[in-house]
Amino acid sequence: MMKVKIVKNILDANDQMALENKKLFDETGVVAINIMASPGAGKTSLILKTIDLLGLPVAVVEGDIASTFDAEKVGAKKVPVVQINTGGACHLDAAMIRKAVKRLSLKGARVLFVENVGNLVCPAEFKLGESARVVVASVPEGDDKPYKYPGMFSAATAVVLNKIDTLPVIDFDMRRFKKGVHAVNAGAPIFEVSCKTGQGLDSWIEWLRKLAS
Ligand code: MG
Ligand code: ZN
Repeated sequence: MMKVKIVKNILDANDQMALENKKLFDETGVVAINIMASPGAGKTSLILKTIDLLGLPVAVVEGDIASTFDAEKVGAKKVPVVQINTGGACHLDAAMIRKAVKRLSLKGARVLFVENVGNLVCPAEFKLGESARVVVASVPEGDDKPYKYPGMFSAATAVVLNKIDTLPVIDFDMRRFKKGVHAVNAGAPIFEVSCKTGQGLDSWIEWLRKLAS
């Protein structure tokens, strides 16, 4: 019982901080997008492609347990970026975002991409102050992800299915995948894309532009 209560208090405190972050983002005129996925689904690739195609000023927070590789790739696009190393923690929380955006110039930015730690479980529990939560899945991971991680998929504002260029060589039942997403989240749009070939990214970009307008 005690343990349950402590966890609840931590989440309440996080929700409070997330509300403060959201207020700051609203005042700054920036829309924050929380990007969640398992490791290797293509969160960074999606952010890099989106920076090229969106045509709006963006800023990025990169969350990783360790390393700065992804932040360096984003920085090469001449986009303001801050790396958070969680030092072992498997998700970002609202306090980490608050600290990170203090080091980031949000002035003029319209969209803030937050790349969460690669993990399909607890990032869903921690609000960051975002306007949208995007779950990136990928074809090689299999069509069963929404069935195995319903919490993550039910929390999504939108789902991006990446690496559709691999469909010809991988057993992936698209109907089963979509059925699984819509079973826990009837309203979420699913964007089928390949960050490698660029296929399907236009609808994703259109959706983002609407969100940022
Ligand atoms: Mg990454
Ligand atoms: Zn975690």
